[in-house]
Amino acid sequence: MPDRERILVVEDEPSTRAILVKLLVAEGYPVGAADTAAQARALLAAETFSLVLLDLNLPDDDGLTLARELSRHHRTGIIMVSGRADDMDRIIGLEVGADDYVTKPFVPRELMARVRTVLRRLSPPTELTGVLKFEGWTLDMPGRSLHRPDGRQVHLTRAEFDLLARLASQPGRVHTRHQLLTAVSSRDWAPVDRTIDVLVSRLRRKIEVDPKSPRLILTLSGHGYKFTPSDA
Ligand code: CA
Repeated sequence: MPDRERILVVEDEPSTRAILVKLLVAEGYPVGAADTAAQARALLAAETFSLVLLDLNLPDDDGLTLARELSRHHRTGIIMVSGRADDMDRIIGLEVGADDYVTKPFVPRELMARVRTVLRRLSPPTELTGVLKFEGWTLDMPGRSLHRPDGRQVHLTRAEFDLLARLASQPGRVHTRHQLLTAVSSRDWAPVDRTIDVLVSRLRRKIEVDPKSPRLILTLSGHGYKFTPSDA
């Protein structure tokens, strides 16, 4: 049997942690568990995990801080878990690099579907495995890195990278916001337009010469977005 993706559960509430571990183990995933951010950091330093189920409120640190560290330093999927639905707006607004969000109490079947979706999305589709070049920029799909024409690397969050990869792999094609959301997230209940629009404006600040007058990522009013490098 092939190696299954390892999943880390970070949750200080013993009953919730036990339920999550049990659900994942029942699906055949190797699972690690931590009840504090410190313990999670120790486990993440020692082992590789494909996905982290991360409680928002931990006794020793904010789950958002840990999420930011994860999306910056590890290629790990993140599903934020919170007890309050209105925390989700905060998470989305802060753009911490999480792949999905779940509110407690969760429906086990729905949670597992989200886990599978995030894991599937983290393994790059076949058309996104090469190195793309546009206007001197280099987008390395397997390395998940972006380099400017002067060779300097530009840090992208996971969602920003996935969005740019989707756009740049099909220059000239119009992508609807819904198509782009599917490429960057498994959320189907989020405020779709806003999520993609926020991501696009952040990407523009990183790759456009003049983000207020973008040339690479064009907005097609009422339709979506189009990637238009001059050398496509
Ligand atoms: Ca908690």
